Parts: sequence; structure tokens; C-alpha cells
Amino acid sequence: MLYIVSTPIGNLKDITLRAIETLKSVDLIAAEDTRHTKILLDAYQIQKPLTSFFEHNQIKKADHLLGLLKMGKNIALVSDAGTPGISDPGFLMVRLAQENNIPITVIPGVSACISALTASGLPAHRFVFEGFLPPKSGARRNKLIALKGQEATIIFYESPHRLLKTLKDMQDVWDDPTIVVARELTKKFEEVRKDKASRLIEHFTLHAPKGEFVLLYQGS
Ligand code: SAM
Repeated sequence: MLYIVSTPIGNLKDITLRAIETLKSVDLIAAEDTRHTKILLDAYQIQKPLTSFFEHNQIKKADHLLGLLKMGKNIALVSDAGTPGISDPGFLMVRLAQENNIPITVIPGVSACISALTASGLPAHRFVFEGFLPPKSGARRNKLIALKGQEATIIFYESPHRLLKTLKDMQDVWDDPTIVVARELTKKFEEVRKDKASRLIEHFTLHAPKGEFVLLYQGS
């Protein structure tokens, strides 16, 4: 069995009983960063062999994991935070397992995009998850232009060092829209800030962006 296991996005208590049970029961845990996952495992006294499964080794590693699954081993796939496959490695492994008739089960849990959406106060009946915008400004602006007129709440992941650049592109392309910035969810410095892009730019110019960010925009 291949288990796809969600893990916390900051607060280690945000793990499900089923996730703990599963991590305790499998033969092997495939993790994006084994040192990072070890912190979670130690917190719950879980002692299981770990192997790395990250973006740049996933194709080769998936074949190896498939071999073990075919031998009857139980493997849990986790990422550094949240739900595997959501802006993280995961779907290739699931597809390979499906194609080889390996049973798969999901242990659902936290994802930053859903946590941010529910905390944003923006309509959640229709939403689009865009993940990370392109790092280069030209491509990023083109993407924002293409998203104009989407009748949905649009969710982006963003890194602290690109936050201001992205907010500036949103200000230009979407004519100073209202944006929700959800920062460090479930952690000590959690905050959800809703304001015009121009005012958010002022704020984050004065207070250098730190931590992890989700940006949300109510398309119309
Ligand atoms: N698989 C993860 C999930 O289900 O949310 C996402 C992994 S992605 C590589 C990491 C990005 O998720 C961060 O750069 C940030 O945009 C967002 N993120 C993760 N944890 C967060 C948190 N505690 N608060 C706000 N955003 C977070």
C-alpha cells in the first residue's frame, strides 16, 4: 500500500491520529527532506526508516519505491509540510502506483492553500489554486493578465523574497486590487492582512517580509 500522508504546515499538533498511526505502521517513509521530517517523527516517537523523495530525484526514486511496493512493502509519502502533491512532489508517485495496480490511500490533513482560503474572508465557493507565480517579472505579469476576469478567488504561494515584487506586479496589472496576505499560518507570528496592494507594499517595505506567505485575490 502507498499512503499519501499530510503533515503540519508549522504547528506540529496539526497532525491527524490516522497520520500518526500510519507513520508508525509503515515499513518506510519517503520524505522530501529527511532531516525536516525527522523533527516531526521525533515529536511523536516514531522510529521508521526514512528515504528521500524530492523534486530532483523523484523520477529515479519512484521506480525504486515501486519495486519495494511490488514486494509488498507499505510506504508512506510525506512532504516537508502540508499535503504531498500540492506544490510539492507527489503526483508522479501516485500515478506510477496507479499504473502498476498498487493500492493507494490518502491520509488527508492540512494544506496552506485551504487554511489561507478559510481564514481570508473571501468567497470560497469557487477558487483557483495557482501555486507559485513565475519568478521572472515578464512571465509573472503575463500570468496575472491571463487571470484577469476569473470569477473565483485566486490563491498563490509566494516566497518572502519575491513578495514585494509580486505585490507590485499585482498593483500594476490589476489596478491596485485588494489582496489578502496570509502569513505564517498555525505558527507564532501568524497574521492575515487584507488591504490594497499599495498599502501592503508600504507595510512590507517597512517590515521586511519573513516566513511563509499565501496571497489571495477575489477575481470578478
Ligand atoms: N504542500 C504544501 C501545502 O499543502 O500547503 C505546500 C508546499 S509549498 C513548497 C510551500 C509554500 O506553501 C510556501 O512557500 C508558502 O507559500 C506556503 N505555506 C506553507 N506553509 C505555510 C504557512 N504556515 N503559512 C503560510 N503559507 C505557507
